Amino acid sequence: MLPTGTAKGPGKWKRGTDMKIAVDIDSTLHHHWDVVSDVSQRRFGVRLPYDEQLTWGFTRLRQEQLDVCVRESHSDARIMAGVPYAGAVEAVAEWHAHGHFVQVLSHPSASCRRATAAWLEAIGLPFDDLQCPERRVEMCVREGIQLLIDDSPLSIAGALEHGIAAATLVHPWNEEVCDEEDVICARDWHQLAQLLAPVLGAPVAAGR
Ligand SMILES: [Mg+2]
Repeated sequence: MLPTGTAKGPGKWKRGTDMKIAVDIDSTLHHHWDVVSDVSQRRFGVRLPYDEQLTWGFTRLRQEQLDVCVRESHSDARIMAGVPYAGAVEAVAEWHAHGHFVQVLSHPSASCRRATAAWLEAIGLPFDDLQCPERRVEMCVREGIQLLIDDSPLSIAGALEHGIAAATLVHPWNEEVCDEEDVICARDWHQLAQLLAPVLGAPVAAGR
């Protein structure tokens, strides 16, 4: 079920029926960036334009300011206010119904675990496990994850290094890794579901 051969894209993958899939939340299941920018604006008067975030690092905030923003963006209220990207819940539900193991990866703070589980239930996203690992690639290796869906260029590179297939929504901060690495990149969840259909063997949720 792992990628074989050298061709780029899903065509080189064998079709799986019981794969272990890990799915990131922030900037993967919902548009987390605007939440962070909103906190930054309110707290520090610093806007963080999405289109200008071309690297993984934050350049407009000091580390302690960033820590505040990231922590506040994961308050219970903000987690529960998250709106999933169109098609995300439907796609993951299809995979889950198809027999794939779905592991959701949350922010590495035990304090947000309960709210995150409540949010997943509220939006109707089925999953088998919820983890909040500090080192998510290591956890994926340990858990035998075969496909990681995550927007972080660091996570993508780490997954590929360990032979884990990687997929992501395209964001300004990961366009480069999409260009250079052997990773499935999609503009939205509808396209992501289509691109992964040959890999996961789940029907494409057309028209959603
Ligand atoms: Mg993320």
